[in-house]
Amino acid sequence: MMKKRARREMFKKILAWLIYWTGVYFLLSLLYQRKKTVVILAYHKLEAQQGKNVFISSLGVTAAAFEKQMKYCTKKYRCVSLNEGIRLLRTEKELEYNYLVCTFDDGYRNNYDHGMVVFQKYQVTPMIYLPTGYIDTGETLWHDQVEQLVKSIDQERVDIPCLGISAKLSNNNDKMDLAYTLMQKIKHNAPKERDTMIKQIADEIGLTLEKKDNGLLTWQEIKRMADAGIDFGSHTVSHRILAKNALPEFEKELYVSKEKIIGITVSKDVHFAYPDGKLADVDEKIEQKVKEIYVSAVTTEPGHNYPGCDLHQLKRVGVIKEMDLTYLKVKILLTKILNKREL
Ligand SMILES: [Zn+2]
Repeated sequence: MMKKRARREMFKKILAWLIYWTGVYFLLSLLYQRKKTVVILAYHKLEAQQGKNVFISSLGVTAAAFEKQMKYCTKKYRCVSLNEGIRLLRTEKELEYNYLVCTFDDGYRNNYDHGMVVFQKYQVTPMIYLPTGYIDTGETLWHDQVEQLVKSIDQERVDIPCLGISAKLSNNNDKMDLAYTLMQKIKHNAPKERDTMIKQIADEIGLTLEKKDNGLLTWQEIKRMADAGIDFGSHTVSHRILAKNALPEFEKELYVSKEKIIGITVSKDVHFAYPDGKLADVDEKIEQKVKEIYVSAVTTEPGHNYPGCDLHQLKRVGVIKEMDLTYLKVKILLTKILNKREL
């Protein structure tokens, strides 16, 4: 059960290679080339390198892979800022070119360490969404706490009775799967319950949560990046998922994080990224509030964006560490084909 994720990713990678190298990709590209779109890529962490036995989340793309991807994207697409992408989607009837916007969630410092040189080399203006309550507080993002916990387990077998989990950990894939399973079980809880659950998991595994560098950008670094032309948006205060019935607390987070972002950017037009980004978690009231407060909102629903689309339900193409350039090209094309109703 636990190895499902790794197997699924391997299968997708092989499928992507088959689609690409048998010429199916080329044929499909021709078939679906008429309508031009705005593609929004969703990144998280940029890692220096991937050691064979280093356990890292699937959200870390290596700096080398990222550079290759940007080299390809700036050749194949018109790479624009999110503001420009929104302007085109709002004002154009038909797009003349295919556009691409690069976004990062969570505000990791490695976006600065490994990203800046690539942004400048390829003239890419990314949008980085910040969970403002974690910046400069030393608090580690809840999902990174889970990852750190799983990473420090050195037993072959682990039991977490509070969540009914019993897992065998023989390699890094097992650890990645365990971290993923834990995150799925925790993520819909309010921040306080989330912290209690993580503490309980740590107790049951027999580990203590170490407080170390949270790996996120500081406000000083954010300001420096903003001055260099990088865009910042809101990702709530606490990285809370918009669980149903959580509107009052959520609304507060929407306002507070917006004010924080306005503090470092010149524009009053602030953009938003839904934590976790699944539309199934968003009800009408929440959507209405997000519309009132923010210029746009991105989700993690896969797809491309077309003129006249809902600017507060923007689709994205997620990039993860398992993706090489071929896989990314195929994924971009398939997400276009699969949201057919827009074609
Ligand atoms: Zn996030």
